[in-house]
Amino acid sequence: QEAHAAQMEQTFIAIKPDGVQRGLISEIVSRFERKGFKLVAIKVVVPSKEFAQKHYHDLKERPFFNGLCDFLSSGPVIAMVWEGEGVIKYGRKLIGATDPQKSEPGTIRGDLAVVVGRNIIHGSDGPETAKDEINLWFKPEDLHQFRYLIKSGMS
Ligand code: ADP
Ligand code: MG
Repeated sequence: QEAHAAQMEQTFIAIKPDGVQRGLISEIVSRFERKGFKLVAIKVVVPSKEFAQKHYHDLKERPFFNGLCDFLSSGPVIAMVWEGEGVIKYGRKLIGATDPQKSEPGTIRGDLAVVVGRNIIHGSDGPETAKDEINLWFKPEDLHQFRYLIKSGMS
């Protein structure tokens, strides 16, 4: 059982400065929590521009890259690691499409955002990026080893 818990899938989720400024932290955390995912790390951080460039390195050729990195480093970000079966893929489902105009109602971006440059939340897009992003934002000792005290069907 412990071995299984140690292998549980994890993803990196960040509430961007617009989500924090708009007071949407608890709204977003609660959607992941009520789904049944477990919060294993959380911190408030204002990333430097260099750090934002590292986080978004895959997008460095895109025309919006500079503005995106300026924005991510413009204020407090809530950096989190969430854990649970299927959390990478389902986390993206909870978040909704990149462009909030195309996000379904019921998703975080669909319900709470309007434009792509202010879409309030980031989520890892696959197992490799999840691992890389967790390593970029957190030290291994920051990750809480969740002990399931109440049987939830997830342990
Ligand atoms: P996602 O965040 O859904 O994984 P991407 O990885 O493609 O989306 O892009 C990262 C972020 O870059 C988006 O969340 C959004 O904030 C921003 N972005 C993406 N496309 C555009 C665009 N066409 N114009 C401005 N910003 C964009
Ligand atoms: Mg992405």
